[in-house]
Amino acid sequence: MRLGIGLLVLAGQCLALQSNSVVREGEHALVYYESGALSNQAMDEFSALLERGIGDIAKFAGITVPEQKISYFVNGRVDISRARRRSVYLPLERVRTRSAPYLHETAHVLLPCDECPVWLGEGYASFVQSYVSEHAGGYDGQIFTRRGNAGVDQDAVRWLGNERGKAMLPYVGTALQEPDLTDRRNAAAPFYVLAQSFVKFLVETTGLKDIHSLSALNDLPLLRERWLAGLKG
Ligand SMILES: [Zn+2]
Repeated sequence: MRLGIGLLVLAGQCLALQSNSVVREGEHALVYYESGALSNQAMDEFSALLERGIGDIAKFAGITVPEQKISYFVNGRVDISRARRRSVYLPLERVRTRSAPYLHETAHVLLPCDECPVWLGEGYASFVQSYVSEHAGGYDGQIFTRRGNAGVDQDAVRWLGNERGKAMLPYVGTALQEPDLTDRRNAAAPFYVLAQSFVKFLVETTGLKDIHSLSALNDLPLLRERWLAGLKG
């Protein structure tokens, strides 16, 4: 999730979330859990998932895991999942119920692309989340999809059948400015699904697995037409 939050606010929030927390440190992840919120076993299990997910994403994209650890904050004060630089913020309840998009947010941290259009950054993170959970392990946060990559095209077709989905389509696969995604149900939901479906098509069609290679594709309009034709067929 991308939100326009000031760095100062985040820095303050970061400190607030670090205090009164229980820390689990692994090879690649430093996890700050809200104190007293989860059992030791639940924290150990989720930390193990994070370690595994970091390795699996790096392997998928063909990169080495950076030495600097990623910080994760699992806390009831986090309202919406997001990543910022080398930190990931996850709502406690989503971790508790095994519905946290930890792979999506980790993909943002490991494979950042500040110059990429929003549809590519978000679609790629969602695609990687589904791909890794389907092929390597862990779980898919499935914030807006029902069955990950296996079902995202059907989800996209369903969205294109109504006005809310149609309104988001011009922002996917084009250079248009990002849409207002604060309306989660009507805007973000179709936008994320359409973006994931298109990125899945791009990866499967071109064989490219790195977001920067995908961002450099020069026949995007043609590929977009083929993607849409395939969905309609
Ligand atoms: Zn995101």
